[in-house]
Amino acid sequence: MDLKLYDTLTREKRPFQPIDPARVRMYVCGPTVYDHAHIGNARPVIVFDVLFRLLRQIYGADHVVYVRNITDVDDKINARAAERGIPIRQLTEETYANFKADVAALGCLPPTVEPRATEHIAEMKTLIERLVANGCAYVAEGHVLFHVAAMTDYGRLSNRSLDEMVAGARVEVAPYKKDPMDFVLWKPSKQGEPGWSSPCGIDTPGRPGWHIECSAMSWKHLGETFDIHGGGIDLVFPHHENEIAQSRCAFHTPVMANFWMHNGFLQVEGEKMSKSLGNFLTIDDLLKDWPGEVLRFNMLRTHYRQPIDWTLRGLEESFSSLRTLMDGIEAQTSDSIAPGVYEALCDDINMPKAIAELHAMHGRGDGAALAATLAALGFVRRPQSRRKVDETAIAALIDKRRAARTAKNFAESDRIRDELQAMGVILKDSRDGTTWELAP
Ligand code: AMP
Ligand code: ZN
Repeated sequence: MDLKLYDTLTREKRPFQPIDPARVRMYVCGPTVYDHAHIGNARPVIVFDVLFRLLRQIYGADHVVYVRNITDVDDKINARAAERGIPIRQLTEETYANFKADVAALGCLPPTVEPRATEHIAEMKTLIERLVANGCAYVAEGHVLFHVAAMTDYGRLSNRSLDEMVAGARVEVAPYKKDPMDFVLWKPSKQGEPGWSSPCGIDTPGRPGWHIECSAMSWKHLGETFDIHGGGIDLVFPHHENEIAQSRCAFHTPVMANFWMHNGFLQVEGEKMSKSLGNFLTIDDLLKDWPGEVLRFNMLRTHYRQPIDWTLRGLEESFSSLRTLMDGIEAQTSDSIAPGVYEALCDDINMPKAIAELHAMHGRGDGAALAATLAALGFVRRPQSRRKVDETAIAALIDKRRAARTAKNFAESDRIRDELQAMGVILKDSRDGTTWELAP
C-alpha cells in the first residue's frame, strides 16, 4: 500500500517517496510563544502527529525526523512581555512549557527536534549574507530585504502573480523597498527590543524577520531539501511562499520540500474564533472540561484539509463515540495500525474513513487489533467522565425553560431542552418539577 499525500504546490494527491527512506524528514511551523495556544493551533499539531505516527510505522520509528520550531522572537512577544512587566525569556519559557503540557495531553508525541529561533540567529545571518551575495536580497536603511523580482516563479505555492499580490495584500509600503512585495529578512531593533549584531556590514543591532527563521531552522536540522513541510492553510501566503523563495534562492535548488501540506481552518460554533466574540477557546481551558482524548478525537473526525466547525455538540458526539470504541479496552500493550485503518490513512490521511473502519472493527469484535490501532493513533485511555458540568448553569437553563413553558412558548422550551441535551443533560419532568441527570 503506497502512501499518497496531497501537495499544495502541485495541487495533486500523489505517491509519497522519501528522498532517503532511512531518514524521512518533516518540518512543521510551530507556535509563536506569547500566550496560551488556542484550539485552532492544536489542529496542525494533532494532524501532523498522526502523519508522524504513520511515517514511523511505515519507515520505522528511528527513521523519521520531525522538526517543529518555536518562534521566540516576535513583535507580539515583545509587546506581551512589556505589558506583563516580565523579561521576554520568562514569557517565552512559561508559554512554551504550557504548550508542551497542552499538546502532550492531546496525545501528541514530542517532535524529534524543537528548535528555537533565537538559537539559530547565526544560520539566519549566513542565509541572509548568501542571498545578498547572489543578488536576491539587498540592504536598505538598516534592513535587509528579499527582492521578489529576483525569483522568476515567486508565487507558485499560493498560485498568484505578483500583480495580484500587490493588489490583494496589505503590504507595508516603505520608501526603501525596491518593490512593494519585497519582504524583510532582517530589520533594525528599536530601543529595548532584543537585538543581535547585524549581517551584511550593517553596524546597528537588528533582529530577523519571521520567514527567515523557518528557512534557517529547516536547513540546520533537515538540510537544503527535505520531504514534507506542513502548517495551517493561513501560512501558505506569505509565510511559506517566502520560505520557499529564501531557501531555493540561497541553495539554488528546484524545490524546498517535496510535499507542502496544509490543514484547513477551525472555527467555533460557526464563527471565526476571536477574543472580541468571546468564543476564544484555549487548549488549556478545554482540558479543564474534557479529557484530552476527546479533544483529539473531535479534531480528527474531520478530514484535515476541510474546515472544522468546533462545537459543543461535536464534542458530546466525540465523547460518546470514543467511549463506545474503547469499551472494554483497559491498558494497551502494543501499538500497530490494522490494515483497513492503514489503508484509509495512506489515502492522504483519511481519518473519517479510518474512524469508520475503527467502528467496523468494534462491530466485528476485533478487540485486540482495535486496541492496538487506537494506541498507535494516540488513544490510550478510555475517557471516563464527560466534561465537568456547571450545575448553576444547568439550574438557570431549567428555570428559563420553566418560564418559557408557563408562557406557552414551546419552541423556546424545546430549544432549551435540546441545548441541555447537547451538554449531556437529560431532563425528567414530573408533577413535582424538573430534575436532571447526566446521560450515560
Ligand atoms: P501561529 O502561532 O498563529 O503562527 O499559529 C501556529 C499554527 O496554528 C500555524 O500552523 C497556524 O496555521 C495554525 N492555526 C492558527 N489558527 C488556526 C485555526 N483557527 N485553525 C487551524 N489552524 C490554525
Ligand atoms: Zn514557518
